[in-house]
Amino acid sequence: MSTIADNVLRVSARIDAAAHAVQRDPASIGLLAVSKTKPAEAVREAFAAGISEFGENYLQEALGKQEQLTDLPLTWHFIGPIQSNKTRAIAEHFAWVHSVDRLKIAQRLSEQRPADLPPLNICIQVNVSGEASKSGCAPADLPALATAIAALPRLTLRGLMAIPEPTEDRAQQDAAFATVRTLQESLNLPLDTLSMGMSHDLESAVAQGATWVRIGTALFGARDYGQQP
Ligand SMILES: *Cc1c(COP(=O)(O)O)cnc(C)c1O
Repeated sequence: MSTIADNVLRVSARIDAAAHAVQRDPASIGLLAVSKTKPAEAVREAFAAGISEFGENYLQEALGKQEQLTDLPLTWHFIGPIQSNKTRAIAEHFAWVHSVDRLKIAQRLSEQRPADLPPLNICIQVNVSGEASKSGCAPADLPALATAIAALPRLTLRGLMAIPEPTEDRAQQDAAFATVRTLQESLNLPLDTLSMGMSHDLESAVAQGATWVRIGTALFGARDYGQQP
């Protein structure tokens, strides 16, 4: 059975190879370890193997893990669906939110971001798979949403996030991620982040410009409980 440390090496090698294939600097691609459904001990193991950025989907689960890991210098990213009544805790306990898809949530996060913390880094989740996905802002609504979020005082809009419909077809993966990149380029804003690519499609995402790949299964193994997107 492979350990988390083995998996970190394997995933890092995949990112390096994918970056070199398109003449990108591998250092420009961040590895966000998605630890949802995995215990704090797994996060500790990943940290020991060199990972310090972790993504979580479920607030209560994330807060519990954070409490057990206060001795480690970790950076936490919220990547799951956001209900209004969860925004205060998210604004207080995370450095990044990748899954903002409506203005009301962004406004609450800005109002609730504690004054002693730096602005919260935000990615707008965009729905590039049409009816196949319910979460994410429709591409047609993106320009207005991005402009409004960029103006909020306690947020820094960094870029876009997407979860395309899963497919093993490389051409389809490339097309979906290229759409995300093109949407970002079409916004006239100083954005530096494309959060895209998961365990099965990180090569395509890196080829199309990902700056965060969000990797769960390939680092921690199959998830044993909880919902999967
Ligand atoms: C679970 C999850 C991931 C990780 O998916 P894997 O296929 O296990 O790598 C990435 N992003 C989001 C938003 C997720 O919910």
